[in-house]
Amino acid sequence: MRVKFHGAAGEVTGSLHLVEAGKPGAIKHVLLDCGMSQGSAEMEASNADPFPFDVDSIDALVVSHAHIDHIGRVPLLVKRGFRGAIWAQEATAELMSIMLLDSASLAESDAERFNRRREHGEAEMQPLYTKDDVADAMAQVRTLPYDTREAIFDGIEIAFRDAGHILGSSIVELWADGKKLVFSGDLGPKGTPILRDPTPIREADLVLMESTYGDRNHKDRAETIVELGNILDEAWRDGGNVLIPAFAVGRSQELLYWFAKHWDEWNLSRWQVFLDSPMAGKVVQVYGHHHELFDEEAQAVWRGKPNPFALPNLHITQGAEESMAINQVERGAIIIAGSGMANGGRILHHLKQNLGRREAHLVFVGYQGAGTLGRRLVDGAKWVRVHGRDYRVNLQVHTVGGLSAHADQHGLLEWYGHFEPKPALALVHGEDKAREALAGEIGERDGIEAVLVRPGMTLQV
Ligand code: ZN
Repeated sequence: MRVKFHGAAGEVTGSLHLVEAGKPGAIKHVLLDCGMSQGSAEMEASNADPFPFDVDSIDALVVSHAHIDHIGRVPLLVKRGFRGAIWAQEATAELMSIMLLDSASLAESDAERFNRRREHGEAEMQPLYTKDDVADAMAQVRTLPYDTREAIFDGIEIAFRDAGHILGSSIVELWADGKKLVFSGDLGPKGTPILRDPTPIREADLVLMESTYGDRNHKDRAETIVELGNILDEAWRDGGNVLIPAFAVGRSQELLYWFAKHWDEWNLSRWQVFLDSPMAGKVVQVYGHHHELFDEEAQAVWRGKPNPFALPNLHITQGAEESMAINQVERGAIIIAGSGMANGGRILHHLKQNLGRREAHLVFVGYQGAGTLGRRLVDGAKWVRVHGRDYRVNLQVHTVGGLSAHADQHGLLEWYGHFEPKPALALVHGEDKAREALAGEIGERDGIEAVLVRPGMTLQV
């Protein structure tokens, strides 16, 4: 079995790994993930580049979970000729359809906007893919529940195990040529709300492990929750709104979970809670009918009152008009809206209304990338530009650090520690600083020299 690394090797997005295995004369090419690069304009432009392999040679695709940096180029692969099966865990398949349709409509509206304004003689911009391409891709999806071993070709089997990162997120086990490969996908932290802990795996010949937080440990989750409750109290006393930028999958649902769990303690009934994102609303529905994937603690929260996804004061807004109506609320609103880094999306409209208000509070619950509006606010900017206008920052900015959906260095070490004997290890999906720190720890503890893979590198087992 050979694995060739094409993406997310030395960076955190654009997951793309190619496995070659099978009987001599009938070698199969199985792709693990087909993600988009996200970040700078240059990285995003690279998503339209040709794939670094012959698309016709790919026999199957296995996706680990529904984040765009793991599935974002799937419709493009299909548009360029891929006709094989796309294997996904059941909830992943449902979330994938929502995420890819959103990605297609963003691409379509970007292209439309460009074409409307394009100068005479400039070429027309084509969207990376359309909603029709997404429908074509979804028709090739085949679902597989967790913990079910399935032969995808003669001599090649796969199984999904719960990775505890977002709903449906999977660790992929792949058996071929008498060897076993384990691809971690993205691993969740232990004790993440709603979801189970990442499944420990004991046997492998080669492990591909993510290393996003390979160089640091998260703040204690319990402290973070206390902090969140205190901020809500403070905001109520100040008589303002609370704005929480959050991505549609994972964090938005987690926040609602904490609100339900601390309903009485935080006196939540006095607030109005707005989830101002049609996409997050759809994702809530998918979470809502997959209780079988919840951990025991979450099952208990759902058995109690109120249901996190049906809080009596929760408004999930759809159209732009409904979203604009929130502008009338000057106090007592908790508004969760995307994007998570405040570099686009509906949160910008709410910021415009609230940036100048001393009584308003802005709470960041996720990582703020360099160059984003979120980062400028976290860094204490006094003036910021939104939609071409400058706004004075009077509202109070908080960063709440312990709600990551990724395992930290402890978690990664613990997960790899379950393997016995210790298999060969390739670190993917992490910046070099994180990978080097993690490799150092593993070398010291287990005597294993982890490979920091680079695009174009091949490993054989
Ligand atoms: Zn992810």
